[in-house]
Amino acid sequence: MLRDLFRKPKKYATIPSEQVKKDIPEGIMQKCPKCGTILITKELEKNLKVCKACGHHLPMSAPERLQSLVDNGEYHEYDQELISKDPLAFPDYVKKVQADMNKTKLNEAVVTAEGKIGGYPAIVGVMDSRFRMGSMGSVVGEKIARAAERAAAKRIPFILFCASGGARMQEGVLSLMQMAKTSAALEKMHREKVLFVSVLTNPTTGGVSASFASLGDINIAEPGALIGFAGRRVIEQTVRQKLPDDFQTAEFLLKHGQLDMVVPRGELRDTLIKILEFHA
Ligand SMILES: [Zn+2]
Repeated sequence: MLRDLFRKPKKYATIPSEQVKKDIPEGIMQKCPKCGTILITKELEKNLKVCKACGHHLPMSAPERLQSLVDNGEYHEYDQELISKDPLAFPDYVKKVQADMNKTKLNEAVVTAEGKIGGYPAIVGVMDSRFRMGSMGSVVGEKIARAAERAAAKRIPFILFCASGGARMQEGVLSLMQMAKTSAALEKMHREKVLFVSVLTNPTTGGVSASFASLGDINIAEPGALIGFAGRRVIEQTVRQKLPDDFQTAEFLLKHGQLDMVVPRGELRDTLIKILEFHA
């Protein structure tokens, strides 16, 4: 108290470590968000965006994922022209979608395509978390439903990579309706006895985890992926209990029977080829 008044002022300045961190040139190197290791971007990309030091799986864009998955990186994209409307005249929605379109060079938060994986034809969908946090609006739902319907009609498997914050707030109830629409399309596939594989990547939450992401004949997740419906804080406040540290991780869900496999990214293509071979 009184002593504080007479304390000598510090003679040196402290440079906040945040500022030091920012001095890493962007593009050439990047920092692992989990362990803090500085990684050379080119090497990181070669390693499918998995940190060499700690095994953390960094987000992959939809084009990167498709390139890493399909034979020779060749695929035919579907419904590329579908673009979101602004049905509720939500403030700034059009502007935000446009900004994400410019940033990602994509028209929406999911890319659906047909290609071959290990020689087996498949319809592949990949959500891109850079676009409105991979949230599901009408276009995302429509593209996924159409992909499922195509898979059912062509009788070839559908593999969907999920990465999403859930339903898209700016489209209100129309976003929530996508949960029913996509689920119905997958049910059609199921009746046609066509394989659906869901791959849950970090993060898969909200209305996406509560619909198509959990409906795979086989549900696979990447290590460490956050998967859940509501956030940890909301649940803790509701049930008035402390949740375990690994709650809502892929490993926790595997242990409790909600997933079939947790597969590191480096083994994913081979695992999928084995599954396709088995069901061919
Ligand atoms: Zn790391």
